Formats: sequence, C-alpha cells, structure tokens
Amino acid sequence: MKILVTGGSGFIGSNLVRLLIEEKGASVINLDKLTYAGNSESLADLDGNPNYLFEQIDISALGSQLSDLFQRHQPDAVMHLAAESHVDRSIDGPGEFIQTNIVGTFNLLQASLQYWRSLPSQVSALDYALGCKFQPSQETFRFLHVSTDEVYGSLTPDAPGFSETHAYDPHSPYSASKAASDHLARAWADTYGLPVLVTNCSNNYGPYQFPEKLIPVVILKCLRGEPIPVYGKGDNIRDWLYVKDHAEALYAVLSKGRVGETYNIGGNNERTNLDLVRTLCQLMDDAVRQNVDGNHEGLCPEGTTERGALGAAKEQLAPGGMTSASSAVEDQSSDSKSQVLDLKSQPSNKSFQDLITFVTDRPSHDMRYAIDSSKIRDELGWQPKEDFASGFGKTVQWYLDNQEWTKRILDGSYQLERLGNV
Ligand code: NAD
Repeated sequence: MKILVTGGSGFIGSNLVRLLIEEKGASVINLDKLTYAGNSESLADLDGNPNYLFEQIDISALGSQLSDLFQRHQPDAVMHLAAESHVDRSIDGPGEFIQTNIVGTFNLLQASLQYWRSLPSQVSALDYALGCKFQPSQETFRFLHVSTDEVYGSLTPDAPGFSETHAYDPHSPYSASKAASDHLARAWADTYGLPVLVTNCSNNYGPYQFPEKLIPVVILKCLRGEPIPVYGKGDNIRDWLYVKDHAEALYAVLSKGRVGETYNIGGNNERTNLDLVRTLCQLMDDAVRQNVDGNHEGLCPEGTTERGALGAAKEQLAPGGMTSASSAVEDQSSDSKSQVLDLKSQPSNKSFQDLITFVTDRPSHDMRYAIDSSKIRDELGWQPKEDFASGFGKTVQWYLDNQEWTKRILDGSYQLERLGNV
C-alpha cells in the first residue's frame, strides 16, 4: 500500500511513518514543508529505504504542486497530519494556523478529490487476477484527516469523556482552525463523495516531540536545572496517549474504519498537569538515584529499553562531567550556561520537584479534556498498549538517550522560552 503522509517530519508523523514502513509493509511519501516543527533527523534511520520518499511542499501554497504530486505517486491513501499544532504559538501568531490548518487542508482536499475522480471506480478483475489488488481505485482510496480532542472544548470535572457526537466548542486559535478543517473534510465527504475518515485524539507524548510541549520542556528544564513552568495552579486535566499507540490507532482506522465515520482516540490516562510534572520529576530523580546506587536498570519496565536511563544520567554525572547537559546549551550565552544544574552536587534529599514554578495561566485555558474511545475499541479492536508507568518511563528514557536530537533543535531560534502570553 502506498500512503501519502502529510506532516511526516513532525512528532506524530515521524512515529507514524516509521510504523507504516517497518511494521505494516507500506511505502510512504512524506509531504512536509519542514517548518520549525518538522525535522528530517527524526526519520534519518529511513534514509535510503526504498519504501520512503520525501517531498518538501507547503500545503497552503497556491499552485499545481499538490496535483502533480498525486499524479506522480498515485497513492492509495492520504493520512493528513500536517498542521500548525502548538496552542501557545496560535495565540502569538494565529495567521499561520489559518493558512496551514484551514487553507492547507482545503488545498489538499481539492487535490485529493481531483485525483480520486481520475481513478477507476474499482480495481479491475484483470488487475486483481494479475495480483495488482493495490492499484488505486475510487472504491479503495481513503483520506484520513487527523485531528484533536481540543475541538470539543472543555469538560467539567465529572462529565463523561468526549464521544464522537459531542458538540464542537473550540476556544483557542489552534483548536478553532482544527475544527474548521474537520468541517471541511466532512463536507468534502458529504458533498463530493470523497472517502473521508476523521480521527480526534487526546494529548500525545513520546519520542521526537518538539521541545516546546509540556513533557520535553519538563525533562529539559530538569537537565538544565532551570525553573519548570506550570501554568496556573497546574490543575488542568489532560488524557495522555503514547504516540505509537496513536499511530497504531490511525492505521486501524485507515485499514478497517467505516468511510464517513469519526473515531475518537484516547489513552484512558487522565492526569492533572501538576501530577504529570511531578511524575516526570520523580522519574528524573530515579535516574539520578540509580546512578548513585550503581543500579543500571533504567526507567523502563524490563525488556523495553536497550540502555538504562542511567547510561544517560551518568553522562550528566560523570566526574568533570555534565557533558550532555552542558552541551545542550553550549551555544547559549554564558548567563544561561551558568543556570545548568550540577546534578552531581544535588543533595540526595533534593528532588527536581523543587524546580516547579507556577506561572501565569494560558489565556482561555481549557480545564479538562477526556476521551470516550469505546467506538474505536468496539468496532476496530484498538486499545492503547502503554499505560502511564510504561509510557512515561520510555519517554524520559528516550530524551535522556537522545540529547543530541534536542541539542540540535535548541541550537536554533527556539530556546525553551515561554510562548502564548497575551
Ligand atoms: P508537529 O507540529 O510536531 O508536526 C507538524 C508537521 O507538519 C511538521 O513536520 C511541519 O513541518 C508540518 N507542516 C506544518 N505546516 C505545513 C505546511 N503548510 N505544509 C506542509 N507541512 C507542514 O505536530 P504533531 O504534534 O505531530 O501533530 C500532527 C497532527 O496531529 C496535527 O494535525 C495535530 O493537530 C494532530 N494532533 C496532535 C496531538 C498532539 O498531542 N501532538 C493530539 C491530537 C491531534
């Protein structure tokens, strides 16, 4: 199966592309503009793979690039993830969100429709007999539009999770632009018959997330010994899903979902932001303690890691060391270098939780998101494999093991600063 993935160089996209090629036997064309959030290094392991192709295209740009792309590659399906995705950035600069999330989705739907109309209605019996059952056809083509639970707005503490029929009530420029794109995708299905499916997913976490989002921010602030910002009182609740579980859910919807349907995807993993930050600090404390105890087991449950968290934490702690943490800020001013915490001199009774600092809340900050994912579970047999303990252990481990990846990002214009203050 040949799949056009948009936004494949981003956080979820790169995890999805890897899953499709390595575990689902698909070939992938990754269409990405490579904005600040897109990173070719996240897919460096696929360089030279015959089942992987990259096309640098801006979906919001006018012109024939998108139609040409469809004609050249003749995909069997589109998985549309390309978006501006950070709520705080949408507060500072909503224009890009309108262009990419709304205009870009419109352009992609139009190009998909034009391509879909050019396909044979069904795979011909002769092609099928010749083994060409993956020839694209109108009957088998799919357009999967990937969206967020933020389009539903905010829940009260005891309300049931968002179901697929929950009314839309977006509050940020990000969620409003995603809501608009969801409506466009459904309208192209209802009006033109394009075989569209929509997914709305809760907050993702895991490897390759751009370090402006909460979880990588917390881990990197710990490594730098800088205050860990928690918005408001930290009592906002999110439902956390490990990114590979999301990628598996997207594949299940693409391959088994009913055309025209929406599937909500969640982790059954609700936490307040403050609980989450404390858990991450605890995992970082454990990494330090394991070094002190000489225990090299790592943070992940048995069998899930190649190298203990200690391996990375130890580099921080090595005599004359702080090598990795200090290299993560080596191109910054001497002022910020001096803020790097010397983990070696951390009193053993100290915790990274001491770095937690409450900051002004995000404007119009939704209080609670939660997902009712019974539809995808009952119809498609999907449920998350990772729970809170295994998923967060793996994630902290990954950031400790891959500091070069974050270091190169933080060499650019973004320096973990606060965004989204009105
Ligand atoms: P991301 O910001 O990490 O990646 C977005 C990717 O889209 C980047 O590679 C970027 O270069 C690309 N892109 C941006 N503008 C583009 C344009 N004009 N043309 C082509 N490519 C462009 O985002 P993510 O967290 O991986 O999210 C992917 C999708 O999943 C988004 O649609 C988002 O709304 C949705 N989603 C994300 C989450 C989450 O927790 N991260 C949860 C639910 C849904």
